[in-house]
Amino acid sequence: MRCSRPPLRKKIIEMSLPSSGSRQARSRFRNAVSAVYDYSAAVAEETCTLLLPAQCLCCSASVSHSDVCTQCDIRLRSRIQEKQYSCNTCFEPALHPHSPQAPCLSCMLFPLGVVTLQSLWSYQHPVEDMIKSWKYGGNEHASRYFAKELSRFIEAQLKGEADLIVSIPSSPSATRGRGYFPLGDMCRVISRNLNCPYFPLALRFPRSHRSQSSLPIADRVRNMAATMTLGSLEIRGKNILLIDDVATTGASIHAASTLLTRAGAREIRAFTLARSPRFQANRLKACLSRQTDETIKTRRGRR
Ligand SMILES: [Zn+2]
Ligand SMILES: [Zn+2]
Repeated sequence: MRCSRPPLRKKIIEMSLPSSGSRQARSRFRNAVSAVYDYSAAVAEETCTLLLPAQCLCCSASVSHSDVCTQCDIRLRSRIQEKQYSCNTCFEPALHPHSPQAPCLSCMLFPLGVVTLQSLWSYQHPVEDMIKSWKYGGNEHASRYFAKELSRFIEAQLKGEADLIVSIPSSPSATRGRGYFPLGDMCRVISRNLNCPYFPLALRFPRSHRSQSSLPIADRVRNMAATMTLGSLEIRGKNILLIDDVATTGASIHAASTLLTRAGAREIRAFTLARSPRFQANRLKACLSRQTDETIKTRRGRR
């Protein structure tokens, strides 16, 4: 059963908000309508689950007592990390097939600033469709599935070494447009599963910026580093679990880890649901563009 609850929730709240009243009163009213809506939607969904057969998140085949059918489950279990010859930071193929623990070329030229970056899947069919349906269609079934799978994966990799969870922020205009923050919703569930506090406002975009997905690869690092800021949270000496949905160039992870490290974070381990199949190539492209920028600046400075 797929639903698009958040956009509908936003519409109902907007329609029922009184046009007058203090900001506080309007905020209380908004929270009350949201709570009533969530409760009614949960009851409706439970009823539908009892009456209608559930569908596989990937292929829409009928399933009972599971999120994905057996065939899709087998496909989804073949994860990136299980590839051989992985770089021990970004878990991509390393420089040389006979040196499995050596850093890959992109980690040598453009360090991510994290101890490890691990991703569950490659961002291609069927994972790409599932993530889009979750992010843009408010598919809560997918959200629960992702939270469950990522929690299990993190738990197996970390063995309780994190003090707090931080997520890559969303631009204010994107959150307003969707009416919700899908990554934040997923991180709240992961926080409960791992019994580790989550701080959704640890990193922020104080103003709207151009969406990363609309930018050429080379501009993503510049865009992220220029706009992301750190909230007022004490992170000195803390081990941080940094979570994002998709890593395309690692620009968001790099910008976040730079801010968190400057503020005194001890160790940062990053996890994403998926990463671009061209992750290494994208990073090298971004890295080359950054070096070209620096060369131009140095030349201008000499004149
Ligand atoms: Zn399936
Ligand atoms: Zn690497």
